[in-house]
Amino acid sequence: MSQSLFTRFYPIAAIATTPKAVQTLQPLCQSINATLFVPESLSNSQNAQIYTGSLKEHIASIWNEYRAFVFCMATGAVVRLIASLLDDKSRDPAVIVLDQNGYFVNSLCSGHQGGADELTRLIAHQLGATPILTGASTSLDLPGIDVLGLPFGWCKGSGDWTGVSAAISRGETVQVIQEVGSMLWQDNLPKGHPFYFGFPEINESISPKARIWISATRRQFAPDAKLPKVQWHPRVLWVGIGCERGTSRKLIEDAIAQVCQRYHLAIEAIAGIATIELKADEVGLLDYCRDRNFPLKTFDAETLRQVNVPNPSSIVAQEVGTPSVAEAAAILGGLGENLSIQNPKSEIQNPKSKIQNPLIVPKQIIKQDSEPGAVTVAIALSNLEYTGRTGQLLLVGTGPGNLEQITPAAKTAMTGADAIIGYSLYLELIESLLRPGQIIESLPITQERQRAQRAIELAQWGLTVAVVSSGDCGIYGMAGLVMEELQAKGWDGITPKVEVFPGITAAISAAARVGTPLMHDFCTISLSDLLTPWEVIVKRLEAAAMGDFVTALYNPRSQTRTQQIITAQQIFLKHRNLNTPVAIVRSVYRPDEQIVLTTLKEMLEHPIDMLTTVLIGNSSTRTYADWIITPRGYYSTYVN
Ligand code: SAH
Repeated sequence: MSQSLFTRFYPIAAIATTPKAVQTLQPLCQSINATLFVPESLSNSQNAQIYTGSLKEHIASIWNEYRAFVFCMATGAVVRLIASLLDDKSRDPAVIVLDQNGYFVNSLCSGHQGGADELTRLIAHQLGATPILTGASTSLDLPGIDVLGLPFGWCKGSGDWTGVSAAISRGETVQVIQEVGSMLWQDNLPKGHPFYFGFPEINESISPKARIWISATRRQFAPDAKLPKVQWHPRVLWVGIGCERGTSRKLIEDAIAQVCQRYHLAIEAIAGIATIELKADEVGLLDYCRDRNFPLKTFDAETLRQVNVPNPSSIVAQEVGTPSVAEAAAILGGLGENLSIQNPKSEIQNPKSKIQNPLIVPKQIIKQDSEPGAVTVAIALSNLEYTGRTGQLLLVGTGPGNLEQITPAAKTAMTGADAIIGYSLYLELIESLLRPGQIIESLPITQERQRAQRAIELAQWGLTVAVVSSGDCGIYGMAGLVMEELQAKGWDGITPKVEVFPGITAAISAAARVGTPLMHDFCTISLSDLLTPWEVIVKRLEAAAMGDFVTALYNPRSQTRTQQIITAQQIFLKHRNLNTPVAIVRSVYRPDEQIVLTTLKEMLEHPIDMLTTVLIGNSSTRTYADWIITPRGYYSTYVN
């Protein structure tokens, strides 16, 4: 199991009060790395921590220490246990309840911001249980408005979050004014969503009942306004700083706050700080960045000098070798985030993608009598928000196409991903596993390399990206392409983090439907010569036929590649009997599955296409009734 999908909920506490509940929770806790608490009466439970006294007291004592609670007991009991502890949904931990059999997983409290809905989905996949999500937005197939920007690292600003959520759940029109930040979320809304983007024309009869601002500006909303409003702040502001040696942390902090206030900018929209290399060891600046969790980008004087700025200074140039530090650094800071993250299929372009003049605050010099030093602040707007997150690439095999044939780990990976990239046919097959708010990008099968590059780009930006292939993703699948592209980009092997989730490959699933053809040594050969020279394929066919391997042929025939399967048959006929059993298995485990049992001699008399896997038996493979059996050994110990 991929523990990394659960790390954002850490630490997790799980509570069992009966032996049956312990049985259900123990393996789960181990695989997701949660602490299991049991009462003294169950002190013989393995890997569990014992609590003494009442459960209510125990929960109260650990309430603030854990980010998520997983109870395996009656929902009513849990409600009574936690009622007095609940405070505010922006701070409360996620609370999840399982029945003792592990059939159902219920997201009880803090579904959105606490992440209980997401954790519920992950745990449900892990256990093969049914998730119970009763939140209004989930029922409408919409992402929660209070978690909308989390994948992109947006910060929540002030506003009437309950009022806006209520309007959405009533199905009322909600106006969205997005000035900055990724538009990807807009591309992935269900049909009939309640959002109206931008300002209605005068002749349009639209009357929004709530408003969502997505901007770098901080807005003050009247508390009793009729129209509930909220604001999200994508982190698009790069603050360029110049300062005297020894400037205090407080002065830097005050100066930035003052400038933001003067320009009505939200501190929450700050992506990071940029300055000259010379200041890379400036204590006050380092302290400020560390406390605020801001990245600090530094540029050398030579690089800064190249930037065109409105307010160059010859004095600064004399001192540090560039006429501008704050303005130039702010502009360069923002440029670094200039990836093309827009959805390729999107009609909507980010309004800021054509930023003419990124410097929205020219340099301001700030001093305070009580603090040493002086600070120069300038602010630039970047094209793309800084997510502050470390991306992950989950390379997922989804098996032949039936949900039951996907591993729980692969399901969990898909649920946990911010974005899912794959071939459209396979994405349709697994549609029911997708959750509201996920970014889904399906590209045609011919654009595999672009798909791999896109996945890497999104992961480098900070998203958790699942790249989905049918069968196993590491067998003629996307995983290899992603790894090759990563290597070509000089990947350090660590960031973005890569995890591979195996799936049942076509050879195995096709074999299962016809018996036990792969019981002995076998190989797979793809007949596609798009990425492999035909001579290499012929050589392998010869070797497999000569070596008496049971052989699974992938990509056997397309509309244009029709000769390959004929040659393959001829090669096998040189080494194997005419009556060698052959299975032609098409769309295995999908609704349109077709299976033909035939022989090497007659195999080409049946339809074979790109959705087919052809299994050719070895010299001892035989058919029995409607089954293909390859004996375990070559000595006929069991059968005469
Ligand atoms: N990664 C996939 C293989 C992709 S190559 C896997 O591990 O299964 C594509 C080929 O796989 C197809 O041309 C076909 O030969 C085979 N294939 C994939 N899914 C199949 C299915 N459901 N039924 C039969 N063959 C399948």
